[in-house]
Amino acid sequence: MKIRIIGVVGAIVIVGISLAAIGQKRSTLKSASVNASSRSAKAISDAVFDGKKISRSDSQWKKVLTPQAFNILRKKGTERAYTGKLTDNKKAGVYACGACGLHLFSSKDKFDSETGWPSFFQVIHRENIEEEVDSTLGETRTEVLCARCDSHLGHVFDDGPQPTGLRYCINSVALKFVPAK
Ligand SMILES: [Zn+2]
Repeated sequence: MKIRIIGVVGAIVIVGISLAAIGQKRSTLKSASVNASSRSAKAISDAVFDGKKISRSDSQWKKVLTPQAFNILRKKGTERAYTGKLTDNKKAGVYACGACGLHLFSSKDKFDSETGWPSFFQVIHRENIEEEVDSTLGETRTEVLCARCDSHLGHVFDDGPQPTGLRYCINSVALKFVPAK
């Protein structure tokens, strides 16, 4: 009888230990897969818009943007022609959103429009920008916005070079240049 009780208790202990071990293994696996997915999400997030919008209040944007960048990106301002740092930039790289870092334009698609603003004939990924009709200044123009943070970037016109015939006229201050490695 005594031996039987010891045997049963022993079996319960063994089952308990192995269940705990399985549970531990599962949770390790789970945390490993969570880490892997958040890593890969981070890696692609600046390249192609993944649908997750960034929303901040004006006071939050003011903390991370210069007054000029805030005025252009968040209040739809326009920098004076020929004053932007990136207008004549000819280095290879990517032009990202000055507010959230989403990749917008490639140096390969930049051209000299002689307008005094950085100009591109296409977007790096169409889903990375949004377009809206802008009827201010007495004419109808197409406003270009960052798809992720809704910041104002500039306008797009249909007098650009081939192959697209488009001219994305973008404020230098609205962009952050990321040199190619
Ligand atoms: Zn943005």
